[in-house]
Amino acid sequence: MIETTCPHCGKTYFVGQKSVPCPVEPHSTHDEFEAYQPDIPADNNLDNPNISGPLLGGVGAGTGVNCYPGTPGSCHPDAYIFVDYVSDPWDCLSRQMSVCPNTQRVFLVGSHYGLNYHGILTAKGKVTSKIQGVKDGFSYCGKKMIVISYRDGVI
Ligand SMILES: [Zn+2]
Repeated sequence: MIETTCPHCGKTYFVGQKSVPCPVEPHSTHDEFEAYQPDIPADNNLDNPNISGPLLGGVGAGTGVNCYPGTPGSCHPDAYIFVDYVSDPWDCLSRQMSVCPNTQRVFLVGSHYGLNYHGILTAKGKVTSKIQGVKDGFSYCGKKMIVISYRDGVI
Protein backbone atom coordinates (compact mmCIF):
# COMPACT_ATOMS: atom_id res chain seq x y z
CA MET A 1 0.00 0.00 0.00
CA ILE A 2 1.19 3.47 -0.84
CA GLU A 3 1.10 6.22 1.75
CA THR A 4 0.86 9.89 0.86
CA THR A 5 0.41 13.20 2.66
CA CYS A 6 -2.06 15.89 1.57
CA PRO A 7 -0.21 19.19 0.92
CA HIS A 8 -3.26 21.18 2.09
CA CYS A 9 -4.36 19.59 5.36
CA GLY A 10 -1.27 17.52 6.19
CA LYS A 11 -3.22 14.28 6.59
CA THR A 12 -1.24 11.13 5.83
CA TYR A 13 -3.32 8.35 4.28
CA PHE A 14 -3.15 5.17 2.23
CA VAL A 15 -4.04 5.64 -1.43
CA GLY A 16 -7.17 3.88 -2.67
CA GLN A 17 -10.41 4.25 -4.55
CA LYS A 18 -12.55 6.30 -2.18
CA SER A 19 -12.78 10.01 -2.99
CA VAL A 20 -12.87 12.09 0.19
CA PRO A 21 -13.05 15.89 0.19
CA CYS A 22 -10.11 17.62 1.83
CA PRO A 23 -11.28 19.34 5.03
CA VAL A 24 -8.99 22.34 4.38
CA GLU A 25 -9.03 22.75 0.59
CA PRO A 26 -12.58 22.07 -0.70
CA HIS A 27 -11.46 21.95 -4.34
CA SER A 28 -9.14 19.07 -3.55
CA THR A 29 -9.94 15.44 -2.76
CA HIS A 30 -8.02 12.59 -1.16
CA ASP A 31 -8.16 9.21 -2.93
CA GLU A 32 -8.26 7.19 0.25
CA PHE A 33 -8.05 3.48 0.76
CA GLU A 34 -11.14 1.70 2.05
CA ALA A 35 -10.99 -1.87 3.35
CA TYR A 36 -13.76 -4.40 2.91
CA GLN A 37 -14.22 -7.82 4.43
CA PRO A 38 -14.73 -10.58 1.85
CA ASP A 39 -17.82 -12.72 2.34
CA ILE A 40 -15.96 -15.62 3.95
CA PRO A 41 -17.36 -17.15 7.13
CA ALA A 42 -14.62 -17.09 9.76
CA ASP A 43 -15.95 -20.14 11.64
CA ASN A 44 -15.17 -22.66 8.88
CA ASN A 45 -12.00 -20.95 7.68
CA LEU A 46 -9.88 -20.37 10.74
CA ASP A 47 -6.19 -20.69 9.76
CA ASN A 48 -7.18 -21.71 6.22
CA PRO A 49 -4.27 -20.75 3.93
CA ASN A 50 -6.46 -20.91 0.81
CA ILE A 51 -8.38 -17.72 1.60
CA SER A 52 -5.38 -15.37 1.58
CA GLY A 53 -6.14 -14.15 -1.97
CA PRO A 54 -9.58 -12.65 -1.26
CA LEU A 55 -8.46 -11.41 2.16
CA LEU A 56 -5.54 -9.50 0.63
CA GLY A 57 -7.79 -8.21 -2.16
CA GLY A 58 -10.08 -6.69 0.44
CA VAL A 59 -7.27 -4.42 1.60
CA GLY A 60 -5.84 -3.68 -1.82
CA ALA A 61 -2.73 -5.80 -1.28
CA GLY A 62 -1.50 -8.17 -3.96
CA THR A 63 0.99 -10.97 -3.81
CA GLY A 64 4.52 -10.33 -2.62
CA VAL A 65 3.49 -9.95 1.00
CA ASN A 66 3.36 -12.31 3.96
CA CYS A 67 -0.16 -13.26 4.96
CA TYR A 68 -1.77 -14.91 7.99
CA PRO A 69 -3.58 -17.19 7.36
CA GLY A 70 -1.32 -18.25 4.53
CA THR A 71 1.32 -20.64 3.35
CA PRO A 72 4.76 -20.05 4.87
CA GLY A 73 7.26 -18.93 2.24
CA SER A 74 9.85 -16.28 1.62
CA CYS A 75 9.98 -13.10 3.69
CA HIS A 76 8.54 -9.83 2.44
CA PRO A 77 8.67 -6.25 3.80
CA ASP A 78 4.89 -6.19 4.37
CA ALA A 79 2.93 -8.67 6.47
CA TYR A 80 -0.85 -8.82 6.86
CA ILE A 81 -2.50 -10.57 9.78
CA PHE A 82 -6.26 -11.07 9.38
CA VAL A 83 -7.30 -11.39 12.97
CA ASP A 84 -10.78 -12.83 12.28
CA TYR A 85 -9.30 -15.76 10.38
CA VAL A 86 -6.41 -16.87 12.62
CA SER A 87 -6.56 -18.57 16.02
CA ASP A 88 -3.93 -16.32 17.58
CA PRO A 89 -2.83 -13.09 15.86
CA TRP A 90 -0.20 -12.45 18.56
CA ASP A 91 1.43 -15.76 17.75
CA CYS A 92 1.37 -14.83 14.03
CA LEU A 93 3.07 -11.53 14.88
CA SER A 94 5.84 -13.16 16.88
CA ARG A 95 6.36 -15.83 14.20
CA GLN A 96 6.60 -13.17 11.49
CA MET A 97 9.12 -11.08 13.41
CA SER A 98 11.30 -14.05 14.36
CA VAL A 99 11.27 -15.74 10.95
CA CYS A 100 11.41 -12.48 8.95
CA PRO A 101 13.27 -9.91 11.07
CA ASN A 102 13.50 -7.55 8.07
CA THR A 103 9.72 -7.00 8.01
CA GLN A 104 9.05 -3.27 7.66
CA ARG A 105 5.28 -3.00 8.07
CA VAL A 106 2.75 -5.20 9.82
CA PHE A 107 -0.95 -4.67 9.12
CA LEU A 108 -3.43 -6.02 11.64
CA VAL A 109 -6.74 -6.22 9.79
CA GLY A 110 -10.12 -7.24 11.06
CA SER A 111 -13.66 -6.60 12.08
CA HIS A 112 -14.24 -4.32 15.03
CA TYR A 113 -15.35 -7.40 16.97
CA GLY A 114 -12.26 -9.45 16.09
CA LEU A 115 -9.83 -6.63 16.84
CA ASN A 116 -11.50 -6.04 20.18
CA TYR A 117 -11.66 -9.74 21.00
CA HIS A 118 -7.89 -10.12 20.51
CA GLY A 119 -7.00 -7.08 22.62
CA ILE A 120 -5.97 -4.88 19.70
CA LEU A 121 -8.75 -2.28 19.93
CA THR A 122 -10.79 -1.15 22.89
CA ALA A 123 -14.59 -1.36 22.79
CA LYS A 124 -14.51 2.30 21.72
CA GLY A 125 -12.28 1.50 18.74
CA LYS A 126 -9.01 2.97 20.02
CA VAL A 127 -5.77 0.99 20.08
CA THR A 128 -5.15 -0.76 23.40
CA SER A 129 -2.12 0.16 25.51
CA LYS A 130 -0.64 -3.22 24.61
CA ILE A 131 -0.81 -2.39 20.90
CA GLN A 132 0.42 1.15 21.52
CA GLY A 133 3.48 -0.37 23.19
CA VAL A 134 4.12 -2.59 20.16
CA LYS A 135 3.60 0.37 17.80
CA ASP A 136 6.11 2.43 19.76
CA GLY A 137 8.62 -0.43 19.74
CA PHE A 138 8.17 -0.82 16.00
CA SER A 139 8.66 2.86 15.23
CA TYR A 140 11.74 2.92 17.47
CA CYS A 141 13.18 0.33 15.06
CA GLY A 142 12.05 2.25 11.96
CA LYS A 143 9.17 -0.17 11.39
CA LYS A 144 5.43 0.39 11.32
CA MET A 145 2.42 -1.36 12.72
CA ILE A 146 -0.90 -0.37 11.18
CA VAL A 147 -4.31 -1.41 12.48
CA ILE A 148 -7.14 -1.52 9.93
CA SER A 149 -10.73 -2.04 11.00
CA TYR A 150 -13.26 -3.03 8.36
CA ARG A 151 -15.69 -0.74 10.16
CA ASP A 152 -13.55 2.31 10.90
CA GLY A 153 -10.67 2.15 8.43
CA VAL A 154 -7.06 2.87 9.36
CA ILE A 155 -6.76 3.46 13.10
ZN1 LIG B 1 -6.28 17.40 2.57
